[in-house]
Amino acid sequence: MNDIDHRVSGNKLDLFHQQEEGAGMVFWHPRGWELYRVLEDYVRARMRRAGFREIRTPQLLARSLWEKSGHWEKFGAAMYSLADAEEGRALCLKPMSCPCHVQVFNQRVRSYRELPVRYSEFGACHRDEPSGSLEGLKRTRAFVQDDAHVFCTEAHIEAEVGRFCSLLRAVYADLGFPDFKVALATRPANRAGSDETWDRAEDALANAARAAGLQFDVLEGEGAFYGPKLEFHLTDSRARSWQCGTIQLDFVLPERLDAEFVSERNERERPVMIHHAVLGSMERFIAMLLEHHEGWLPVWLAPEQVVVATISDANIAYAQEVMQALDEAGVRSVLDSRPERLEKKIVDAREKQVPLLVVAGSRDERDRTISIRMRDGQQVTLSFADGVGHLRLAARQTCAHA
Ligand SMILES: [Zn+2]
Repeated sequence: MNDIDHRVSGNKLDLFHQQEEGAGMVFWHPRGWELYRVLEDYVRARMRRAGFREIRTPQLLARSLWEKSGHWEKFGAAMYSLADAEEGRALCLKPMSCPCHVQVFNQRVRSYRELPVRYSEFGACHRDEPSGSLEGLKRTRAFVQDDAHVFCTEAHIEAEVGRFCSLLRAVYADLGFPDFKVALATRPANRAGSDETWDRAEDALANAARAAGLQFDVLEGEGAFYGPKLEFHLTDSRARSWQCGTIQLDFVLPERLDAEFVSERNERERPVMIHHAVLGSMERFIAMLLEHHEGWLPVWLAPEQVVVATISDANIAYAQEVMQALDEAGVRSVLDSRPERLEKKIVDAREKQVPLLVVAGSRDERDRTISIRMRDGQQVTLSFADGVGHLRLAARQTCAHA
């Protein structure tokens, strides 16, 4: 493992660990879970603004549902199953949330007037990956997929895809990935649906991507059997490519799971389903963030944004006052009041890759100032209110606005 490996950061920064009893699973530690939650909350807010309603669906469902959806046939070998002895049937842990979202859509009769219906979920998924393929957070057996689905008509596809392309571009820029490649995966030899349907679907994806100002390569024959997709490949600081976002059209699952709506002509019709993911897997994305930024997460993502370091015990009350003001301003800070020299505290904050440090000394207390030390060693002393305001801004500024 080299020192850019996210597993090294995970250990050094005390973010998470893995152990044999839970191979392919993650034990998140407080700092790691803070990072996870910051990322999740950010995506949640973005999705809400993009018109998605968040839902939560079960992890364990009868195998019959997975047989009906077609996942058992395709994914069965990677699905964890167990027997429900009392009911005498097999249950499976979900490998993805798609069929569950159709169940929510199907709970009442839908009118064309309601479409598009948009659901998102941070879906806890399990896949039985071979032990040899497990790799830290990059490849796990338990992961959370930021899964989202739109139920709409063919006429909506272009606008819906365009809206999501813009969302992806904005999110990736905020997270520090201005560079990404887009690929359009087209109809495979073995596929469901007519050629006319595929023509329309591929055109709609291509037009929407172009309208969003994206250039893309075409991957002939690489689409899923149920529809074409756009893949978003992020380029990291070492020029490696990570597939994260997807936009996938699906004409098959609504058919298999009997999704329908009442059309303008008062007839029952099948909606089109669009599968969306922004990050793909939360765990894998965090691995990428750690490797891309070499552990130095941008301030807005850092689990601990500020270390408030005292010079002596006499300054603890002032340090706590600063921390409370920072907390109220939405800045995540931790106290370092150990009986150590300030230099040692600065070194240790760097070691933990905390981007900002506030020195709470007697002079600051007397003058009611806040002395901020940046990652590059620059220092600035501001009035209390200005200092809090400065840190508040630094803590919120995403990479796109830095
Ligand atoms: Zn899906």
